[in-house]
Amino acid sequence: MKPVAPPPLAHQPVYPVPPRSGNDINGLGAREKIRARHVFHTTPAYGMPDWFLLNRFFNAVVPFATLRQGLAVRWWMRRHAGPTAPTRVDLGGPDAAAAAVKAAAKRFGAAIVGITPLLDGDQYAHADLAGTYPFAIALGIPMDRARMADLPGPRSNTEVIRVYKELARTVALLSEWLRARGWKTKGYGDPGSTDLLQIPIAVRAGLGELGKHGSLICREHGSNIRLATVVTELPLAPDRPVDIGVEDLCAHCRRCTLDCPPAAIADAKQWVRGEFKWYVDFDKCAPYFSIAGGCAICIQVCPWAEDGRGPLLAEQLLKKRGARAAKSAPAAAE
Ligand code: SF4
Ligand code: SF4
Repeated sequence: MKPVAPPPLAHQPVYPVPPRSGNDINGLGAREKIRARHVFHTTPAYGMPDWFLLNRFFNAVVPFATLRQGLAVRWWMRRHAGPTAPTRVDLGGPDAAAAAVKAAAKRFGAAIVGITPLLDGDQYAHADLAGTYPFAIALGIPMDRARMADLPGPRSNTEVIRVYKELARTVALLSEWLRARGWKTKGYGDPGSTDLLQIPIAVRAGLGELGKHGSLICREHGSNIRLATVVTELPLAPDRPVDIGVEDLCAHCRRCTLDCPPAAIADAKQWVRGEFKWYVDFDKCAPYFSIAGGCAICIQVCPWAEDGRGPLLAEQLLKKRGARAAKSAPAAAE
């Protein structure tokens, strides 16, 4: 997929006083583990004075159809938290409970589901969930590739929020299902950043790997996917992170780097809050993302995002890696 008439860079907003770098706020360059802080896609309630105006601008330019889907997200979010039934239902231990939760999540609309312990670093600085909710259930629903074809444009932007509406619904129903069985549970199906960082949770839960474009890549749908999380006190058997060959391809591919209009995607990994990983330059991406009314170019041009290609790509990449290892093994033994 190729971007269709992306807005020119010259239209980017100009600030009378440049805001504090979002990269600094994000902890770019920090080698020690620190909690993330809110920068964008959020509300003043979480404290975000630096990029508040840009966030407001973005919210003001979204088309009516997108706004309507956004209101539906809010409607479902009312049910993300709520009272827990007084009596606990025994779901048969962590393995059986994990299987039951995954089946329920799929029944409620999730395309992919994984489970991981909730860690301190999965939370934004203000949040304190890990003590109450030790497990996280990561969920993903793909976008319709045909509706993403005008990117960046009103149809693709509306499709993104439509999928968040589906996630918000799935999260509400799964959270209620668990609370009705006596287990404290809270859902996060909001496209904004609230308490949790969705991507590290999804990676540890085995949904996929982090790509160079800073988004999750899963075997089934590549980066053509949106994520949500449900946290619970119910003990669940965790999944393991997967290796589908994303690292092998991102090391050489430059598709997203070349197609990103403001050149926000770096070719090398960087230190971010104590982790050496792929990182997108916030100060370049966010202004462009906002004038485009939501930009998804990088995640759609990615070869993984093509319908049906992911499983084949994973198979080929892992096979190639195996062949390379076999070739170098005798040399290493000499
Ligand atoms: S990094 Fe940002 S600006 Fe660049 S393609 Fe991705 S969303 Fe668009
Ligand atoms: S477009 Fe290429 S480099 Fe970018 S995330 Fe996808 S595979 Fe990796």
